[in-house]
Amino acid sequence: REAAREILESAARRDTNRLGVEAMDLLDAYGIPTPDGDIVDARSDAVEAAERIAPDGEVVMKIVSPDILHKSDIGGVAVGVPPGEVGDTYEDLVTRARNYQPDATILGVQVQEMVDLDSGVETIAGMNRDPQFGPLVLFGLGGIFVEVLEDTTLRVAPVSESSAREMLDEIDAAPLLRGARGRDPVDEGSVVETLQRLSQLVTDFPAIVELDINPLVATPDGAQAVDVRLTID
Ligand code: ADP
Ligand code: MG
Repeated sequence: REAAREILESAARRDTNRLGVEAMDLLDAYGIPTPDGDIVDARSDAVEAAERIAPDGEVVMKIVSPDILHKSDIGGVAVGVPPGEVGDTYEDLVTRARNYQPDATILGVQVQEMVDLDSGVETIAGMNRDPQFGPLVLFGLGGIFVEVLEDTTLRVAPVSESSAREMLDEIDAAPLLRGARGRDPVDEGSVVETLQRLSQLVTDFPAIVELDINPLVATPDGAQAVDVRLTID
């Protein structure tokens, strides 16, 4: 909780009320699993980070900027970057961000471990503060489908274990979580725990007015928060 407080305070010092993947540590501090990742601000550091995270393997690279909320919309996410292309990809991502908005604050580039989406389901876990009900925790189908299908469900925080379980059962895509078409079912317990930890985080910090983990990748082995954005007041 102290760690989380420090992360939010340092964002406030940067004079921004929007945070992106630089807030991954906040999730870590609340025990929500995230893929291994580093934020770097130099080409050579990107290469070094990739060597550490995935020796000889591929990584994901993302632009980190409070001015760019939807990173893939501007070509700010590169998935499956092989070791030889990390340096050039670093330059590409920064160039794209600059072209999109010349005065954007660019904190750097996140180099992240690849998550196996094929064995998982991209879900969304989030929170919005409602003037009447207070913090509403949201769960649903995530990734690129979130706006198209609007398959989500809400609960007022704090969310108990049983109501978190109900949320998983309520969405139309529930059969996907249980392993449709011969796939292995996802680890529902990990998703339930994530919803409860998220509920705890936003209850502890009323300054967080909005938070989205999208995607929260649910696999047979657990749940991982791959992307996050939040607004503080
Ligand atoms: P944004 O939502 O800002 O466009 P994301 O970080 O959510 O950026 O990345 C966009 C998409 O790229 C994700 O929905 C996911 O499909 C894919 N992706 C992102 N990070 C990873 C990762 N570490 N491993 C595999 N796929 C990823
Ligand atoms: Mg996202």
